[in-house]
Amino acid sequence: MSYKVLSYSAPSSGAEQRMRRRVSTVGATLSSLAQWHSVTRTWKLFVMLLAVGTTDMVAAQTRAIPDSSAAMLTLPTDNTALWEGDGPAFYMYTDRRPKRGLAPAWNGGRYGFVRNGTITRWGVIYARFHEGIDIKPVRRTDSGEPLDEVRSISDGVVVYANRVSLQSSYGLYVVVEHWWNGSPYYSLYAHLKTISVRVGDHLRRGEPLGLLGYTGRGINRRRAHVHLEVGLLLNKYFQSCYDDYFPRERNHHGRYNGFNLAGVDVGRLMEAAAGDAPLSVRDLVKRTPGFFRVTIPAYGLLDILRRYPWLSPQLRGWVPDFGVPPDLAASWQITFSQSGLPVQIDALHTETHDLELEVLKPSPAPYSLLTGGLLTGSGDAPVLSRSGQRLVDFVACSPPELLEFR
Ligand SMILES: [Zn+2]
Repeated sequence: MSYKVLSYSAPSSGAEQRMRRRVSTVGATLSSLAQWHSVTRTWKLFVMLLAVGTTDMVAAQTRAIPDSSAAMLTLPTDNTALWEGDGPAFYMYTDRRPKRGLAPAWNGGRYGFVRNGTITRWGVIYARFHEGIDIKPVRRTDSGEPLDEVRSISDGVVVYANRVSLQSSYGLYVVVEHWWNGSPYYSLYAHLKTISVRVGDHLRRGEPLGLLGYTGRGINRRRAHVHLEVGLLLNKYFQSCYDDYFPRERNHHGRYNGFNLAGVDVGRLMEAAAGDAPLSVRDLVKRTPGFFRVTIPAYGLLDILRRYPWLSPQLRGWVPDFGVPPDLAASWQITFSQSGLPVQIDALHTETHDLELEVLKPSPAPYSLLTGGLLTGSGDAPVLSRSGQRLVDFVACSPPELLEFR
């Protein structure tokens, strides 16, 4: 018996739409064979349990945990102008020349496609995506040094602290892991002046982790702010994917590299946290419109689905670690938002031998402007760019030695 191992390599030309596929056949070791059989048994047992009527029990188990992440959130500094609806007082502006027809500069501190606005014949297009929000300081010394404390937005554990400013465009940054409704989410606090926590520290909501600053790229004392992101972790095996793409560059941040954290609309999340209609990250992701989707051959379960099984309608009711049907999918269809956030992953039974790309909302405007460069082309001729391929890889890659279905 042997397993087919798929791995993807980026085409040499960015214009190539399809990824080349390397298929290699690897003989299974006795232990992985044993694993296969035991997992299959577990799955069969699971199916039998479902058949004898414990479906409700499984579903109830999932439902019983309240999805109340929104209610547990607070803003990371004393700047609460967002909750008073005062955008200019809350968001740090970007430096740009005022131009008629474009949004005011403070808009550039918001989440989304808010930067590099250009008036085109298809209307105003903001081509640069901002994955988090930039929060203004509310306290400074006479010389303008910011003094704001930066605090964890929710209970969590510090999983990463970058203390060397030059190693990241985020400058000094901290990542905190939060568990909400059975899935881990990550808040990231960037451009800090100092960090007062260590990896492994447990933080309560509102507990300080450092001071607001202006470390990192493209920032100065005048524009000092905390850049806040809340995101999903794309891949536990990020390092091996990274090495394939950047063989000569060192990844200083392990799996907490910005490439591996897909940021959700944290501004909207924070606005909702103060209102009577709190929003969970999961609901926020589900409500984010898909813009394009790729279909790729399936090899086992995508790692991301172990953390966020709710991304896949076909895994509804499935509890991670309960075994996965080996024949769950012949291919995965991953729907991405305009900014590249995975918003849905469908398990398809139809096979695909190459990467297939489809745009859900075809547009005459260049896709490179609409997707932050993930796609190129326009109309009905979209092309996945090199950074788009990299994104797909970061979601889908798994090391060849991963012959397990746990
Ligand atoms: Zn920012």
